[in-house]
Amino acid sequence: MEFAFFEGKFVPIEEANINIKTNSFHYGTAIFEGLRAYWNEDHQQLYILFAREHYERLIKNARSLFMELPYGVDDLVEITKELLRKNEVRQDVYIRPIVYFKDLALTPKLIGYTPEIAMYTYNFGRYLDTSKGIRVKVSSWRRNDDNSIPARWKVAGAYINSALAKTEALMSGYDEAILLNSQGYVAEGSGENIFLIRDGKAVTPSYNEHILEGITRRAVINLLKNDLVVRVEERPVARSELYVADEIFLTGTAAEVTPVVEVDNRKVGNGEIGEITKQLQEIYFNAVRGNIERYRSWLTPVYEK
Ligand code: PMP
Repeated sequence: MEFAFFEGKFVPIEEANINIKTNSFHYGTAIFEGLRAYWNEDHQQLYILFAREHYERLIKNARSLFMELPYGVDDLVEITKELLRKNEVRQDVYIRPIVYFKDLALTPKLIGYTPEIAMYTYNFGRYLDTSKGIRVKVSSWRRNDDNSIPARWKVAGAYINSALAKTEALMSGYDEAILLNSQGYVAEGSGENIFLIRDGKAVTPSYNEHILEGITRRAVINLLKNDLVVRVEERPVARSELYVADEIFLTGTAAEVTPVVEVDNRKVGNGEIGEITKQLQEIYFNAVRGNIERYRSWLTPVYEK
């Protein structure tokens, strides 16, 4: 049987339903996270990736919307472990916690309501093609500005922006969209941060470029610096730099490390996955599955041994 965590307890997924009058359903005032857990067959273990980091971001984001939960980071990690055990997950899985106002009330506001958290799992493989690389299009839609709907928060309503851009890209025959921010600089993908390799250095938009503060982005910056000895610049990135980059890749919990081989019908480098991207993928995919001892601190094992 498949379980969800709903209104403070584990219930069969069929019973984890909200009322259509639920306030956050109407106004997009829900904060969510996306975590992955990876199954290691040799270890007979399921590892949750960056569990604490995701829940720290969830709690901080929720507080920004005046949503105070009765759970701390440790509680949420424990609930996640228990949910995965109850669902007897022994394969790669995606975990979706979501905090919302459960009140059956009409006004779009953030005070005087009751926050609730729900959590469920999806069996999930690749999100984008990490082996061949993808084709992307610079979107005609601009990333939400921090002074309207901060991209820094994983807030449900903000994802209309991602949905518009992703749909435009798909309908135009591309795999993913790259959004520019309201200043015209490169922000990120519809659900991924972006990195460029230029002359052996990595470049990525900084936190004040109207992006989500990606957890994978942070981990990848450290891998680039420490393992690959590649310098990383966090700075504004102009659209035209995409066309002259030697390599481009996207990062995200779902997207992992996804190579970009074409931008706006222009080949990136020679049109194949670049060397640095390849090396990064190799380390990342091994680390998340628990195969690199020094990166075990990224992981939370689910099953007792
Ligand atoms: N940007 C956006 C808009 C996203 O939705 C995501 C996915 N959470 C990311 C970047 C990547 O963030 P993370 O590495 O924390 O998953």
